Amino acid sequence: MSSFASLVRAVPDFPGPGIVFRDITPLLADAGTFARCIDALAEPWLGQGVQAVCGIESRGFIFGAALAQKLNAGFVPLRKPGKLPPPVTGVDYQLEYGSDRLEARVDALKPGERALIVDDVLATGGTLLAARALVEQLGARLAGAVVLIELDALGGRLRWTGDAPLHSLLHY
Ligand code: 5GP
Repeated sequence: MSSFASLVRAVPDFPGPGIVFRDITPLLADAGTFARCIDALAEPWLGQGVQAVCGIESRGFIFGAALAQKLNAGFVPLRKPGKLPPPVTGVDYQLEYGSDRLEARVDALKPGERALIVDDVLATGGTLLAARALVEQLGARLAGAVVLIELDALGGRLRWTGDAPLHSLLHY
């Protein structure tokens, strides 16, 4: 039985010099480990009344869809701009170089619905904060967020203020 961490590959200098990219595809390819990973990600949210799982494009879709099944919740994709047909709403956010945007269908979440945000990696936190702003813009109630990997040195957790829990399985 492999551990989660042993199936996350560290790729130096990708996508640029000095960056160590955490490649999760070996973990996804191992049936037993992927299944245990989904169980572990779901565990804190069982019985928490999560009604919608919002996955961030694109690796958040992989974990999000599986989690939605475990939690008996719907799945809502939060997408890069221009991918969803109208009517959409979105949130712009800053990257280290430039900016990006997350979009969802305007009625993707019902008012007051309890929504959980999912992504593979928390780095600086910009993506997760944009997802939270979008979920709130859609009128849902935030249950919290879950990521597989947290890159501690980049400080994303410090930016995740408020009461909603943020869970992660692995730290680097
Ligand atoms: P942040 O907005 O927190 O700086 O970056 C998080 C986003 O970038 C996530 O959507 C995640 O998929 C992607 N990301 C950043 N670094 C890595 C990495 O090392 N590995 C993977 N798989 N994704 C990363």
